[in-house]
Amino acid sequence: MEKQVLLYEGKAKKVYATGDPHLLIVSYKDDATAFNGLKKGTIQGKGAINNRMSNLLMSRLEQQGVPTHLVKELNDRETLVKKVSIVPLEVIVRNIAAGSFSKRYGVEEGLVFDAPTLEFSYKNDDLGDPLLNDDHALALGLASREELDLIRKYSLSVNRLLREIWGACGITLVDFKVEFGRLEDGTIVLADEISPDTCRLWDSKTLEKLDKDRFRRDLGGVEAAYVQVMNRLTGGL
Ligand code: ADP
Ligand code: UDP
Repeated sequence: MEKQVLLYEGKAKKVYATGDPHLLIVSYKDDATAFNGLKKGTIQGKGAINNRMSNLLMSRLEQQGVPTHLVKELNDRETLVKKVSIVPLEVIVRNIAAGSFSKRYGVEEGLVFDAPTLEFSYKNDDLGDPLLNDDHALALGLASREELDLIRKYSLSVNRLLREIWGACGITLVDFKVEFGRLEDGTIVLADEISPDTCRLWDSKTLEKLDKDRFRRDLGGVEAAYVQVMNRLTGGL
């Protein structure tokens, strides 16, 4: 399958049409952004790591009953995926307080929740991805009640499965963001990516941050953290 016209260039990936109207090729870049695009940089080797890692994780999730957009990894940066119409919601699942949760509610990073929390943001860069609840999503016509229920169920399954996978690698899954889309027949599938760009991953023993927070917060050792997470995952799978 060959790349054809570039349909979209986002902050971390490019999306190309293919000869098949139901399939797209996503190409992962080394570009990194944070704070709604205000901070920009490059993380050498990130594109290849995120491509591989997202595909490894999605194929695991697919085996465990979560439908995904993954079709086939084409090369180190590019993957063939099912074309979806993205549901404009960022679904964030948290096991431990961090980032915007800690800031918004004034709690220390590291507070471990009794049960996972799930929140939605409206995927809209111009508005800064504002937080919204089910009623808001329904009022804005972003998804139906049935779709929201399914998205919630899949997201909590993803959390349970990813915690197991990362746990086996000595890594604690703090939180993550996922996106879902609709196939032509309306079927909801997990889309976009799962990587250290979209998950907070802490070393289970030392609590060292092994994700994009190293870039966001200028902690150094960004590339090394991505490589370490990838090596631990392939060692643990
Ligand atoms: P952003 O748009 O936030 O800058 P990216 O650089 O990751 O993000 O761009 C990838 C874009 O492709 C995102 O907008 C994402 O929602 C979209 N996308 C991911 N998977 C699919 C898919 N299977 N079909 C259509 N669009 C997708
Ligand atoms: N996240 C993401 N994309 C976004 C916003 C958040 O992938 O546009 C991820 C982020 O990496 C973290 C989780 O979602 O793993 C929760 O992020 P949070 O709401 O704490 O926001 P942040 O601190 O990143 O602003």
